[in-house]
Amino acid sequence: MSTQEISFEAERKLKYVALSLLLLVLFFAFRFSDWMGSRTLHTVMEVLATFLAFIVGVLALLRYYSKKDNMFLLLGSGFIGTAFLDGYHTVVTSSFFDQLALSPPPALIPWSWNASRYFLAIVMFLSWLAWRREKKMGEKGLIPEWIVFWGVGALTLASFAFFVYFPLPSAYYPDLSFGRPEEFGAAFFFLLALIGYLTKGDWKRQSFDHWVVYSLIIGFMTQVFFMSSSFELFDFMFDAAHGLKQMSYVFVLIGLLIGIHHLYQDIGGTQEKLVSQNDDLKRAMRSSDYQSHHIEEQSDKLENQQRALLNILEDVQKEKFKTESLANDLKKYQLAVENASDHIVITDPDGVVLYANPATTRITGFLVDEIIGHKAGKLWGGLMPSAFYEDMWKIVKIDKRVYSGKLTNRRKNGKRYQAALTISPILGDEGEVQFFVGIERDITKQTDVDRMKTEFISLASHQLRTPLSAVKWFTEMLIKGDAGDLEGDQIQFVQNISDSNDRMISLVNSLLNISRIESGRIIIEPEKISLVHLSKDIVKELRPRIQTKKLNVFVTGAADLPDADLDPGLTHEVIMNLMTNAIKYTPEGGKIEVSVVTKGDQIVLSVKDTGFGIPEAEHSRVFERFFRAENIISKEPDGTGLGLYLIKAIVDASMGKISFESVENEGTTFSVSFPIEGLRAQEGEVRLNT
Ligand code: ADP
Repeated sequence: MSTQEISFEAERKLKYVALSLLLLVLFFAFRFSDWMGSRTLHTVMEVLATFLAFIVGVLALLRYYSKKDNMFLLLGSGFIGTAFLDGYHTVVTSSFFDQLALSPPPALIPWSWNASRYFLAIVMFLSWLAWRREKKMGEKGLIPEWIVFWGVGALTLASFAFFVYFPLPSAYYPDLSFGRPEEFGAAFFFLLALIGYLTKGDWKRQSFDHWVVYSLIIGFMTQVFFMSSSFELFDFMFDAAHGLKQMSYVFVLIGLLIGIHHLYQDIGGTQEKLVSQNDDLKRAMRSSDYQSHHIEEQSDKLENQQRALLNILEDVQKEKFKTESLANDLKKYQLAVENASDHIVITDPDGVVLYANPATTRITGFLVDEIIGHKAGKLWGGLMPSAFYEDMWKIVKIDKRVYSGKLTNRRKNGKRYQAALTISPILGDEGEVQFFVGIERDITKQTDVDRMKTEFISLASHQLRTPLSAVKWFTEMLIKGDAGDLEGDQIQFVQNISDSNDRMISLVNSLLNISRIESGRIIIEPEKISLVHLSKDIVKELRPRIQTKKLNVFVTGAADLPDADLDPGLTHEVIMNLMTNAIKYTPEGGKIEVSVVTKGDQIVLSVKDTGFGIPEAEHSRVFERFFRAENIISKEPDGTGLGLYLIKAIVDASMGKISFESVENEGTTFSVSFPIEGLRAQEGEVRLNT
């Protein structure tokens, strides 16, 4: 309890005491007053009292119906009952009713007054009891209206009946110190009610109870001091008591009005609260609108995110499938690589081995663990001239092209083996080398077989050359007539034998040359030569054939063409073969053009004719052994199909290149190119055409 509340409570207590004292002072001050009122004044006062009681009753009941509680129900119906009794009292005590009265006014007036006083005092006491019941029992303690109305109604009727059926005793007892002792009975109930309401304690907080306490104090004091001290009708105390009775009604009325005022205030406050709550609600709704908009936005975002997530999931799923199928593919590739019979190594751009397949061990004899981390070929290579490796690395690392070549290597056990090697550079997005994949095939057996074939051909050719030379020698003698002149068809027959023998010798020579080249034992002795001069010399050599076929042959070449370090014998063989073919496969009156140009670091010789050409379908077979194109077999039956094969072998051995372009019935251009810087010398054992 706050100090403010304590002082408020004390103030009210003080007021109750002050009221009581004031009434006491009033009582003692006017105790012996000789004031005398009148019957009319009494009637006026009672009319007023009746109205006041009625208004109080109605207002209290209204208050009850606005919020039901026992106290207001009892007080409301009690005051209405009081109004009836006061009304009755007014009526029966007015002079108008004198004739009809059952009892004389000196008795009727005080007793009918008392009926109202007892009735009100008891009802007020009951209202406190009813309040207590409700407090204890809660809503269950609410007394049904019909009980109260019937009860109050019955009590009121009983009060009336009292006057009708009982002869009234005397109201005044002048011999006693109190003229009207019967007033103490009502005083007793007022006192009980007063004590009740004081103990109830609501007077400290509620205006209505506060004013009821005032009213009860007045009621009690009126009964104990004023009315009980009246000694005859209309004396001072009599009128004062009537006045105080009205006052006590007025105080209850004030309490009710203040209560109603508070109620309105509360309603106003509640309304204000409602308005402000409404505003709050509107604000909250606006903010909830905003929030719901925000939430909508968020949920949209979430939906988008969810969609994006689903897309990602789909992508991930697809990627997963892709990765799985890639992994499956990779597995296949891995299995293929693992089980390949060729030795496969993958190296970094510096040639350090990152991976080697099991075949590497099978071929080289080195374990995979021994190979990984070393330079490729370091363990098994190194037998070739250093220029070979330099060239190889230049092609794959600088030119970034695929290298293919044959080489000799050494196994872990020291045995040599022949290998066909392909190195492919794997390039990144910016064209940089990321890996090298080297595939090496052990071709030792194949090489041995080839060598044996070559040796056989070489041997057979050698063996064939001697009898062929003998045949040549004897046929020439026959033609010369050393064995006597030939007659008739004999000359032609011997000439045919000689031509066939020449072709046989040429074939055997070609076979011998090829076997020499393929054996790798060919001697290469480079010296400065002019390809233009060499070509012109060959044209001269072939002049009889050129003239027979009435061909136009040109040799062209820029004056400042450099001489190249080439092997004269081998180069002669190449140009001779190309020129022979051009003459052979160009019809009479055709044109042959030999040109020599430089292209970068290469010197290129081309032989261009306007001959039969080579059918496109056969282009891929041009450099095969014994190849002869379909279109020329009937036109030029002479031919071995070994010329271009030999040229290719010579060019390859000389680190040169050969290519051609040909359109059937239009012409053919064969081109050979060699490095301008020339060939490297090779210490071999054999030469061509020996
Ligand atoms: P050969 O000339 O003895 O038949 P080659 O090896 O020199 O053998 O030539 C192989 C084949 O290539 C020839 O039979 C011919 O069909 C074709 N050939 C070569 N050179 C030419 C050319 N200049 N014009 C047309 N066809 C040619």
